[in-house]
Amino acid sequence: MRLSQILVTTLREDPADAEIPSHKLLARGGYIQKVSSGLYTYGPLMWRTLRKIMQIVREELDREGAQEVMMPILHPKELWVSSGRWERYVTDGIMFTLKDQKGAEYCLGPTHEEVITAYANQNISSYKQLPVNLYQIQDKFRDEIRPRYGLMRGREFIMMDAYSFDADQGGLDESYAKMARAYRRVFARCGLDFRAVQADSGAIGGSGSEEFMVVADAGEDTILYCAESGYAANVEKADSIPAAAPDGGAPRPLEKHPTPDVRTVEQLEAFFRLPAAAMAKTLLYRAVWSDREEIVAVMMRGDLDVNEVKLVNALDALAVKLASDEDVTKATGAAVGFAGPIGLPDKLRLLADKTLERRSNLLTGCNQTGYHCLNVNLGRDCRMPEFRELRLAKAGERSPDDKGPLLQARGIEVGHIFKLGTKYSSAMGATFMAEDGKPKPFVMGCYGIGVSRTAQSAVEQHHDEKGICWPASIAPFQCAVVVVDNKRMEQLELGTKLWTELRASGVDACLDDRALRAGPKFTDLELLGFPYTIVAGRRAAEGVVEFGVRSDGTKTELPAAEAVAKLRAALAACAGSPAES
Ligand code: ATP
Ligand code: MG
Repeated sequence: MRLSQILVTTLREDPADAEIPSHKLLARGGYIQKVSSGLYTYGPLMWRTLRKIMQIVREELDREGAQEVMMPILHPKELWVSSGRWERYVTDGIMFTLKDQKGAEYCLGPTHEEVITAYANQNISSYKQLPVNLYQIQDKFRDEIRPRYGLMRGREFIMMDAYSFDADQGGLDESYAKMARAYRRVFARCGLDFRAVQADSGAIGGSGSEEFMVVADAGEDTILYCAESGYAANVEKADSIPAAAPDGGAPRPLEKHPTPDVRTVEQLEAFFRLPAAAMAKTLLYRAVWSDREEIVAVMMRGDLDVNEVKLVNALDALAVKLASDEDVTKATGAAVGFAGPIGLPDKLRLLADKTLERRSNLLTGCNQTGYHCLNVNLGRDCRMPEFRELRLAKAGERSPDDKGPLLQARGIEVGHIFKLGTKYSSAMGATFMAEDGKPKPFVMGCYGIGVSRTAQSAVEQHHDEKGICWPASIAPFQCAVVVVDNKRMEQLELGTKLWTELRASGVDACLDDRALRAGPKFTDLELLGFPYTIVAGRRAAEGVVEFGVRSDGTKTELPAAEAVAKLRAALAACAGSPAES
């Protein structure tokens, strides 16, 4: 294509709402244009990139035997009621819902487990048809509380969602492994530096879940990993071996001390001259279930923090948040900063992190404003709490395999694979005839790739102060043949000839024949970020061009024929070529 005929509007200024480099650059390059919060139009160049990513996804999924389908975006409420998810999603506020002319209720699909499970139920009757893995690439809708960062968190975005159906757990393990493999190839081919990390699989448990994280400072997720062992997990899920706590020694008699205005762990450390690890703080949370809300008390070693995702899982709740000051006072009878296990009303559920199990002589609150207790022994001075893993793992602690320290990085979640088991098939009565002639629910897996988020993540990882440096595999064009001055016949002729030749040999090249002065033209090209340029300029009459590599900024003058050969060699070596994977 000729760039003069493609609608590309580059901007000098960053849009006011763009906070991270990839959002700024995509907007300035005219790749995306905001329609409304979390809603974007992809311009012609962006769509080329998105189509290339989708093509890579298709090739790698097809290679593993998955089959592409297309489901409706509009889902009837009844389907979501049958899985039990309607109410939860409506309460969460994440789902767009609407009514038709007759008043029947619908949603715009945030994900498609219900539709696909019903489809599998109707079309798969026997174990002989299994395994089946179905996927689609389509717009998803989520009413995100904070749409931001451009395509990173949209309210309408492109997702590849796949669903596997197997006869048993062994089959699921295999389907899951295939997808894990396909994902690795997809993200490698997209030129991304990524890491597969263990992920939380929520209250439904499930036997496995991994997220694919693009490593970038702008990432909203925190990853902990161990360079020595390869352990890697989302901090929501991560475990660790914490620093040891001081030994409390043999139980001593309980002591109650006046501690006016001493509320925080730091203040207590100073007041009692004790390390934080010798204390147990008690935090009150408001937990929410589908049918009720409750205040619960959670004890944690003074130097450690609560992982709220682990707490949600331990309670089998939908969500938790720290209780308000008012809730704390009402529940404990004391001001904030004095909660503790001693004298805690019986009706309050009391959980404690495992690091507090068998600890002696702790410093805690006692639900009396202005007092704390020393030598608290759980089970002796108060009821025994329910011990659970509730601790937030932190960088610097030992990896759970004890092979080395945990390091921290930020990540952008571009993909997620998940062993669902029979959650949906059981709820929706989706069964097949097993080998023993009895009906059995499908054992399912679900898998997602944020296609639009992946595109922007590539920019987040590949850019410099001048603009985007697209990986060749997903660049809108692999190469721009640039005519510096389109009024100079020798330049236009050489450029057009090279462009024609490149396309004939399978290179995805465009011709930059725009009537622009050289300065703005090159500034634009750097912003747009095509990986290679072949420039027909000053020495076009001699058949000499300039070969440019966007990623390292190098520019070399050489005869036109050599430039073509050099480009083809460079493209053959680039990470995105299917031959390599
Ligand atoms: P997040 O934690 O970022 O909200 P999620 O865990 O809810 O994402 P999944 O349901 O696992 O997302 O969806 C599969 C993939 O879709 C994600 O891995 C991500 O790449 C992408 N995705 C999810 N939400 C959005 C969004 N609002 N905008 C763009 N991509 C998204
Ligand atoms: Mg996810």
